[in-house]
Amino acid sequence: MGSQENPVLALKQKTLTPKAIIHQKFGANAVYKVEEVKKSADDGGPRLNLPQKGPCLFQCSLQLPEVTVVSELCKKKKDAEQSAAEKAIEKLGITLSIPTAQEAGDEVVGRLSYLFSDTFYTTVHPLSGHFRAALLRKDQFYGYVPVSVISFFDSKLLNLCKCINPEVETNSWLAVPLILKAAARVPLLISEDHLSIRRPSPYPPEVLQAVDNQLSNLPESTCIRAVRIPCLVDKIVEPLLFNISINGYYLDAIAQELGVTDASKVLVSRSVGKASSETRLYFCTPQSYMLNVSSELGEEITTDGTLNTRATFLSGQKIYGDAILASVGYTWKSTDIFYEDASLRSYFRILINKVPDGVYKLSREAILAAEMPTAFTTRSNWRGSYPRDILCTICRQHRLSVPEIISLENAEVPGVHKKMKLTDPREQETNGGGVALGVAGVGGTFKCKIKIFSRSQELIMCCTPKESFKKQSDAIQDAALKILTWLNNYFQNPEISVENLTTSGHEIDIQFYPQCFFKEFKLYQSVHNSSRLLNSDCLSRNTGFLKSTMFSVNDNDQMLGVSLSTGSLACISYSIYLLAGECMKEQLESSEEFEFEIGVKAVSPHFEAVVTQMSLGQSISYNKEVPSIELIMAAATDPERILSLLNSGGCSLEYSITLLRVTEPLEERMEQALFSPPLSKQRVDFALQQIKESCAASLVDFGCGSGSLLESLLAYPTSLETIVGVDISQRSLARAAKILHTKLTTKTEAGSSRIKSALLYDGSITSFDSRLYGFDIGTCLEVIEHMEEDQAFLFGDVVLSSFRPKVLIVSTPNFEYNVILHKSTVQGPEDDPDEKNQSQSSKFRNHDHKFEWTREQFNDWATKLAERHNYSVKFSGVGGVDGVEPGYASQIAVFRREGDDFPENVSSAHHYDIIWDWSSNSSSSLE
Ligand code: SAH
Ligand code: MG
Repeated sequence: MGSQENPVLALKQKTLTPKAIIHQKFGANAVYKVEEVKKSADDGGPRLNLPQKGPCLFQCSLQLPEVTVVSELCKKKKDAEQSAAEKAIEKLGITLSIPTAQEAGDEVVGRLSYLFSDTFYTTVHPLSGHFRAALLRKDQFYGYVPVSVISFFDSKLLNLCKCINPEVETNSWLAVPLILKAAARVPLLISEDHLSIRRPSPYPPEVLQAVDNQLSNLPESTCIRAVRIPCLVDKIVEPLLFNISINGYYLDAIAQELGVTDASKVLVSRSVGKASSETRLYFCTPQSYMLNVSSELGEEITTDGTLNTRATFLSGQKIYGDAILASVGYTWKSTDIFYEDASLRSYFRILINKVPDGVYKLSREAILAAEMPTAFTTRSNWRGSYPRDILCTICRQHRLSVPEIISLENAEVPGVHKKMKLTDPREQETNGGGVALGVAGVGGTFKCKIKIFSRSQELIMCCTPKESFKKQSDAIQDAALKILTWLNNYFQNPEISVENLTTSGHEIDIQFYPQCFFKEFKLYQSVHNSSRLLNSDCLSRNTGFLKSTMFSVNDNDQMLGVSLSTGSLACISYSIYLLAGECMKEQLESSEEFEFEIGVKAVSPHFEAVVTQMSLGQSISYNKEVPSIELIMAAATDPERILSLLNSGGCSLEYSITLLRVTEPLEERMEQALFSPPLSKQRVDFALQQIKESCAASLVDFGCGSGSLLESLLAYPTSLETIVGVDISQRSLARAAKILHTKLTTKTEAGSSRIKSALLYDGSITSFDSRLYGFDIGTCLEVIEHMEEDQAFLFGDVVLSSFRPKVLIVSTPNFEYNVILHKSTVQGPEDDPDEKNQSQSSKFRNHDHKFEWTREQFNDWATKLAERHNYSVKFSGVGGVDGVEPGYASQIAVFRREGDDFPENVSSAHHYDIIWDWSSNSSSSLE
């Protein structure tokens, strides 16, 4: 016995919140009062320079018979309550006393006597409804309440049973014999089948009268939708309708659907899906139990029948045989029966809610369009539930412990490590905000480590990212997202090998413990297989991969100067339809306004590919093959009809998208708002000046992006005849091609320039391509900081040694200027006031920057580079004033080739692919 106490204790401490512990001890004698605390200069706290309209905070006072305690200041009311409860526990030195099996058994007896007392009827408790309904049952069932029901709807009883037998946690019907044993001691009457109990004496007449009165308010008969989850995985999950009436007991109706005589043989699962849901699984008492009732009770129970993997996966407890998913019952809130339809859609939503990507999709209400982003760039760019919250949901859904978050402060200052161990992520918010506010200046100070434990406290996985962050909460979101990404990878392909999981984990600083991991997640494999089976069934008659046909409506063919690059937020409206046969078209999902970040895979790949090529106000429709059936069904508003359409085969999806708005990344917004003309325009003007001075005829733009420089060149009369852009981003190149093509074919625009040829190459500027050898001018504006530092060094050497342009212009942010940018942070109207320090949350101007150099670092790089390759170099910049601290916003180096010492033999390497090629003679283009 003794050896069993520890795991139970651990279990209790993990599952009970401070409030729950206080409740257990004091019940109604604990009074919570929450107050809103306005932040003011003299709140006694540290005098931070806080903005006036900061977030409001809550403080809770908890009154107990012996003492009153006051909580910390918290952002959320419920956190303040928990904090107060925690203080009270500390103050009173409350220790959790875990009853021994013997004591728990006695307590079960006491609890049962209370439940079957005269007064219990009048209490609002999920069980009292069942007790009333028992009085409606006929003949031999009259007054009998199923034992399974008693154990599942009274959490106190259930917890006591777990103290006697910890296996009740996963095998809930093991509680039944424990309760029967206690029932014999009360004593209560036990039914012949040993599955129900009742009072030996009848209830007093006033109780019966009250029950009658209450029941007369209920509807005669109601039809409820439910879902049948067959035990055999090759049988599909199907919808089901059943009737509940006032003259009966809803569990008897469910029993009939399950093919057994009455409610007593029905077992009920814990609720599935959302934390607050009343949706449960109903299934039958195992046959062996029923056969064994005459023999020794309890000890003999063996599991039999086939495990229902889908139902077991959904609920996290062992379920045998067919199961019914329904949302019906008595709640804490009312004495009436509560019911809701549980459709196929509900089933699939619960299913996808067990996978990180699914939780994210549901949080965005965009099941077919949204995908969980692969990176947490900035808080203001994130949409949908935050990674940390998704991680908590996933842990709850898989019945794991609450993730343990360990924050490491001052991560970059050796010796000042401060470790905070927080078991409840909610506390993180309260602690985090305050600490992070005090931090300003350069460099990240927070790192974070997240550990995931099973219920029984076995370590399953651990994530320890190397990166450090300005804000504690960002460090946590980043680590949480890493775990989610890794888990997603597993869920998408559960057959993946341990080696693969290990290496992919290492890449994102995740370590996992295969044995423990698979113990918790192994069931998913068979569930995954079963839904794949379903997929191939329904979709086999599809015509394979449907080539996407794209056509556009109201394409005004006007580029409105939007740059949809990494870090931009695109805002679209969209609809997705299921197309079946010739003319069947059913809407699956739509949104009037849907915003997502470009470049982090926040939507399906084809979706993003399409959007990034659109211009503002443009609408596009295209077709695509049908994705997994789970997603379709989770999105469908009329799932039964959709299922029959899918079954008829030959289906595809139609996407219809309109691009409403684009919000450019903070860097661009900053450059636009703080400089006039905008900094990007100033860089272009600087380049133009150099072109004029050097009478250049050919120009290559290294890292041309969406072609903003090349585009501007078309608008001015210059000496340029050949312009070339190189980039590694195909998406940016596609946009550049579209813009340049439009401009060059619209004669009025191009008329002023002498451009004869324009080309776009796909390739990395760190490798040489002889077609770009010896150009008059090379530009590389705001590119090198997007490469790792060693690559930037490599690029410098490759350009000056191999490409050897007469002039090379390189611009990059001046890190020292950031203080000024951060001081005058520009806030868009949509920015969260909570995120005042957004620009400070990352050390660089743009999350995609790998580095930003000070003037000294840049000078050092450029001077040595020029020396190595016989170039001269001059320094300049745009934004800010020369010679005035802290220098220019964008620093620029202009390299000039000294002498004409061309190398003898230039390698004729072609490392780039032509993406687009335009020439004025043929005035035709190839794509
Ligand atoms: N020069 C453009 C774009 C700057 S954004 C402008 O001033 O608007 C940086 C660009 O560098 C991105 O388009 C990115 O795809 C590109 N880039 C980064 N590393 C590269 C590499 N190794 N080779 C080519 N392009 C690169
Ligand atoms: Mg940049």
